[in-house]
Amino acid sequence: MDLGKLIQERIRDVDDYPKPGVLFKDITPLLADHVAFAGVVDAIVNHRGRGTVDKIVGIEARGFILAAPVAYHFGAGFVPVRKKGKLPSRTHEETYDLEYGTETIEIHVDAFEPGDRVLIVDDVLATGGTARAAAELVRRGGGEVVGLSVLLELSFLQGRGRLGNLDVHSLVTV
Ligand code: 5GP
Repeated sequence: MDLGKLIQERIRDVDDYPKPGVLFKDITPLLADHVAFAGVVDAIVNHRGRGTVDKIVGIEARGFILAAPVAYHFGAGFVPVRKKGKLPSRTHEETYDLEYGTETIEIHVDAFEPGDRVLIVDDVLATGGTARAAAELVRRGGGEVVGLSVLLELSFLQGRGRLGNLDVHSLVTV
């Protein structure tokens, strides 16, 4: 089956989560399907045109699930971006507006070697606030952002437009 079709079939719409009026795209059925999960990881790994990649950044929490196997395939390191207060050592932090509320995310100050080429991986691109803040954290940490890969892009929220000239690769756009 076509991967895009399979992804769409395995993403469940949940009304009024995490608050009234929000339609949440739940990826847990996709993760539970090994063909869909492996297909997604392979599609991110096989996307060409970004040159070498030294580190994969995963965004808490669903981004971790996709980023870790991508890092393994690339032979790259994994770096977590986490919600404020979760990382144990010294951090850079960024605060931004979310589709629902505000959020602060952090990265360890010593996560990168100077000039590391970094791919950011997350499950969903919505308003783009999270990805934009994550890219800023990578730059502040001395890394070079070579792109963003997401499973699903919610194009009606126009996140891509907030990311400047960042190379955004989404497997499915709705
Ligand atoms: P943004 O900052 O682009 O508005 O939101 C993207 C971030 O929020 C991602 O880290 C993503 O995990 C989460 N997110 C926002 N909306 C959804 C959704 O409908 N489904 C899922 N799975 N995650 C979402």
